[in-house]
Amino acid sequence: MNERDSQTIGGLFQEKGFSLAQNAGESDVIVMNTCAVRQSAEEKVWSRLGKLAAESRGGKLPVIVLAGCMAQLPQTIERIKKRVPYVRVAVGPGHIDKIPQLVSQAVHDPSQKLLTAVSPGRAEAHRTGSTQMLPEALPRVKVSGVSAYVTIMYGCDNFCTYCIVPFVRGPQVSREPRFIVKEVQELVSQGFTEITLLGQNVNAYGLDPGNGYGFAQLLEDLDGIPGICRIRYFTSHPRDFTKTMVDSIRDSKHVCEHFHLPLQSGSNRILKLMHRGYTREEYRGLVSYIRSQIPGASVTTDIIVGFPGETDEDFQDTIGLVKDLRFDGAFTFIFSPRSGTAAAKMGNQVSRKDKSRRLQELVRVQNEITKDINMSLVGTIQETLIEEPDLKNPEHVRGRTRTNKLVVCTSKGPKPGDVVKVRIDEAGTWYLKGPMWKPNSD
Ligand code: SF4
Repeated sequence: MNERDSQTIGGLFQEKGFSLAQNAGESDVIVMNTCAVRQSAEEKVWSRLGKLAAESRGGKLPVIVLAGCMAQLPQTIERIKKRVPYVRVAVGPGHIDKIPQLVSQAVHDPSQKLLTAVSPGRAEAHRTGSTQMLPEALPRVKVSGVSAYVTIMYGCDNFCTYCIVPFVRGPQVSREPRFIVKEVQELVSQGFTEITLLGQNVNAYGLDPGNGYGFAQLLEDLDGIPGICRIRYFTSHPRDFTKTMVDSIRDSKHVCEHFHLPLQSGSNRILKLMHRGYTREEYRGLVSYIRSQIPGASVTTDIIVGFPGETDEDFQDTIGLVKDLRFDGAFTFIFSPRSGTAAAKMGNQVSRKDKSRRLQELVRVQNEITKDINMSLVGTIQETLIEEPDLKNPEHVRGRTRTNKLVVCTSKGPKPGDVVKVRIDEAGTWYLKGPMWKPNSD
């Protein structure tokens, strides 16, 4: 979502006559569009901000803008004033449209210390209605590549107990379908082959106006856009992923058969503490339904280890479910307490040592499964959308299957944007590899 928001920020500056600099050293303005989901991401930003001043070596600093979710955290503004007072502008994710104007103010009046545009607290946002900025009339900088992002909704109403997002991104607001359809039509006419729909919980799309037009309907409408090749979406919530949505994906031509379903934990006790709204049995039921309706679909997940109170028994419940469901891949995380969330205040925090041990075990188990599944694809033909030259061998190109597996194509000829068939000759944990396949080429 930040990448997509950054394209809007770039577009706004271009409208004002700015151009994109190739590196920080030649910039008049530096915007850091930040994430607050994990402590480590936040620390990297503070460290980078510190280095920017050092790199200027006493010369004139560009106007530095801290944008995105970090700016929305209550403690950030004070920390900027204390630690990096040369940051001139701080703007929450719901106010990025104000950045050029604030930068202009900062340039014209250097005596103004820190200019801010952040949303009121969550309770205030609910009282006064939405504080979300929607991108309908905002420009976006042109990007290269075969894939484009389209944000279909902002914010989240779920309050998973470990997550800071509902506090910094605000209440859920779905965009009107007609604007989404128009944006996708424009991107397709510009030559983008793949469209990825974005939202904190795309399956809840449309529940806020509650007019009966939901995610399944949106997918059906986008599927019918002439020229569209592939549709993906990110992120799903298993609680809100209905059978109707699965059916709609099954019946579509262009929605990819890849389901990323964040499990987070395989223990019912921990899922309850996380406030996830489903049980391991319900999650298993959803995966079974997907596999029964769309054979060959890939299913990936996110898992957090070391949530407060997680015992070895809870963790083994997760391992058991991972072995049972055999995910194609998993993003695995150590629980990161975020100040302001319910989980950060919970007792029974798990020790660093236990968290690391559990993560290592989970990664080992999942990697074996991933490799096993990939090896089972050797000898198959995979439809692959070529994205870019391969980093290791520029004579090869790389792309993705509809199931979102990385493919290295060893034939000369295919270029980004081409959809080709690849015969898989080799596979590892992270890739499939082989030459282009044509009928009668074997
Ligand atoms: S669904 Fe839960 S994890 Fe996802 S953004 Fe909302 S609160 Fe965070």
